[in-house]
Amino acid sequence: MAKPAAFTCRSNCAGNPSMSVKVRFAPSPTGLIHVGNVRIALMNWLFARREGGTFVLRVDDTDLERSTKLFEDQIVEDLHWLGLNFDERFNQSARFDLYEAARAKLVDTGFLYPCYETEDELDRKRKLQRAQGKPPVYDRAALSLTDAEKAKYEAEGRKPHWRFKLSGGRIEWNDLVRGPSHIDTSSVSDPILIREDGSYLYTLPSVVDDLEAKITHVIRGEDHVTNSAAQIEIFEALGGKGSSPALAHFPLLVGSDGEKLSKRIGGLSVKALREEEGIEPMAILSLLAKLGTSDAIEARSDLASLVSELDFSKVSRTPARFDFAEMERLNAKLLHETGFLAVRDRLEALGITAGETFWNAVRPNLNRLKDAADWWQLVEGPVTPVIEDADYAAKAASLLPDGELTRESWGAWTSAIKAETGRKGRELFMPLRQALTGQNHGPEMDVVLMLIGREKALTRLSGQAA
Ligand code: GLU
Repeated sequence: MAKPAAFTCRSNCAGNPSMSVKVRFAPSPTGLIHVGNVRIALMNWLFARREGGTFVLRVDDTDLERSTKLFEDQIVEDLHWLGLNFDERFNQSARFDLYEAARAKLVDTGFLYPCYETEDELDRKRKLQRAQGKPPVYDRAALSLTDAEKAKYEAEGRKPHWRFKLSGGRIEWNDLVRGPSHIDTSSVSDPILIREDGSYLYTLPSVVDDLEAKITHVIRGEDHVTNSAAQIEIFEALGGKGSSPALAHFPLLVGSDGEKLSKRIGGLSVKALREEEGIEPMAILSLLAKLGTSDAIEARSDLASLVSELDFSKVSRTPARFDFAEMERLNAKLLHETGFLAVRDRLEALGITAGETFWNAVRPNLNRLKDAADWWQLVEGPVTPVIEDADYAAKAASLLPDGELTRESWGAWTSAIKAETGRKGRELFMPLRQALTGQNHGPEMDVVLMLIGREKALTRLSGQAA
């Protein structure tokens, strides 16, 4: 099964150099997608773009009860917002006829067999095996059922679930992230592909779709490594030898404390990061592209640079630590480098009608774009000044430099006040901040003064709201 020698394209196309790369991101629309999902989507997307291939969104909605259109729409919206646009899209729920055909083929070829054990009976078997020091692997008792025995179960009202008959051999693959990998199928139970109620588990539809869509590389989370042996055998049972795509399994993300991310995953959904946290897409993507790799994590302002930097061989095999503070740092860095035109519409949506001067002045102080609104409020007003010493405020007003206020005006002004009044430090600055902004803390005063402008500054220094 290992076929590294046959891999020829830049990133190990599944044995055929002329075959164009096709990958898929396959979320289940049973919840919001979070940073863990995004990392997998991103790896697929970057890989497709680097190879000039196709990126498919496969909606894994065979679980008709838990899947919702709302979550599906949200996934699409999130991917668009992130810039991870897909070239094709399909839903598993529209493809049950394909799964039925595969089921029939596997039954005909003897790979899929009906089992009648109840959950309790299986549980008892496993306990017994453990007590005897054996691994709790399904004993394949159902394979030796006679037609009469099956008929008897059916007559009792039992419905079969269906298992795939593994070869019992060693399955090997050259994982593009984990390197040479293998699973000894004699050590695992024949997987159940279809439940008693006729519904499909994820395993079979995924293989059927990957085959039918001619997926060349399956890039997914490490939690699917255990499915790989069975899936490779199902690929071969349905599509013939060598029909399995190349596989790449990424170690899971953990929190910065090493704990499972699932605990706070709600806050790490793309929707929450966008709507509640105000994180920029490229901050999320810059982090996720490099997390758990030997590359430094740096802010990248576009996906193109991440495409050229993609290298699966740099991915570590240990879980990658997701650090929220690191994402915030990238977010701030990106904002500091963002040009006015790129944010103009979003500033307008925040009610900020200022132009480039405002943006250039405030952006070095921003952690989130929405913070710009606080600055704008200070500029626009109305601000109720806080004045404890009216004489000092009046003196300061009289010393305000002539002409249009610039970023340098603050320095010149406070030097003049210092020279005139002898005040320094907090005693000098705080009354000015309180008069001009009505607050004890806030943005850098040189910018504030410039943006407020002479007229409003004088009004506020006189004690009137403006
Ligand atoms: N729907 C599966 C998941 O979200 C897809 C796994 C796969 O990529 O094969 O885990």
